[in-house]
Amino acid sequence: MGKNKRTIIDYIYPPRCPICDDILEEGKNIPCLRCRHHIRYITSPRCMKCGKQIEDEYTEYCYDCLKTKHYYTKGIAVWSYQDCIKQSIYNFKYNNKRENSKFYINEILRIYEKQIRQWKADVIIPIPLHRIRERRRGYNQARLIADGISRQLEIPVNNNILIRTINTRPQKELNDKERIKNLAGAFALTDTFKKSHTSHNIKKAILIDDIYTTGATMDICAKLLRESGFEEIYYICVCTGKGY
Ligand SMILES: [Zn+2]
Ligand SMILES: [Zn+2]
Repeated sequence: MGKNKRTIIDYIYPPRCPICDDILEEGKNIPCLRCRHHIRYITSPRCMKCGKQIEDEYTEYCYDCLKTKHYYTKGIAVWSYQDCIKQSIYNFKYNNKRENSKFYINEILRIYEKQIRQWKADVIIPIPLHRIRERRRGYNQARLIADGISRQLEIPVNNNILIRTINTRPQKELNDKERIKNLAGAFALTDTFKKSHTSHNIKKAILIDDIYTTGATMDICAKLLRESGFEEIYYICVCTGKGY
C-alpha cells in the first residue's frame, strides 16, 4: 500500500493539472511536467510600479507607467498572460474550475509572501463582479483568490466596500480606449462604507483580480478608495501583460 493510494474520489474526480486540465498521473505534483516547462513566470527586472516584466534592467518603470499616472501604489503578478496560463484562467472564470485558485494562491504566496506582508495592509478587496454576472457564474473568481490569501496572511477580506454598478462588456473584447470608456462609472463605493468612511481607520488596501492588462480597472478602484481616505492601495493579480 503506497502513500499515493487512490481513493474512490480520485476515480470520480481525478486530480487535474491546474493549467492544461489534463488528468494527472498518480503521485504527480501539480502542474504537469509539460506545463511546468511552458509557463512563463514574471521575473526581474520588474516595473517598480505595476510589476510587469521589463527588458531593460537599468530602468525602473515600464513604458506604460512612465507615461500614465496610476492611482495605485504598487502591484504584483505571477505570470505573463500568454500561452497555457490563458487557458487556465479561462477555465477558472468560465468553466467552473474554481479549484485552480489553490494553485494560484500557492504560487502568489510562494513568490511574494514576504513583499505582501511588508505592505502591512489592513484589508483585502477583491475586484467585484456585477451581481448579475456573479449570480450567473456562481462565484467571483477574484474573491476565491482573496479568501485564500486572507486565510494565510490573516488580513481580513471586505466585500462591502466596492460594488460594480454597471454590468460592463467583457474587457477582452475591447481596445485600450474602449476599456476605459467601458469602465468609467462602473464601480462605486457602497453606501454603507460611505456612511462609515469618516470614521474608518483602515488606510491600506490590497485589491485582487485575475488579470491586469492596462490597469484601468485597478486605477478606477484605487481612485475611489483614495477619495474615501485610503492612503496606500496595492494589488495582486494572477497574470499581467508584458511591459515594454
Ligand atoms: Zn498541464
Ligand atoms: Zn509598469
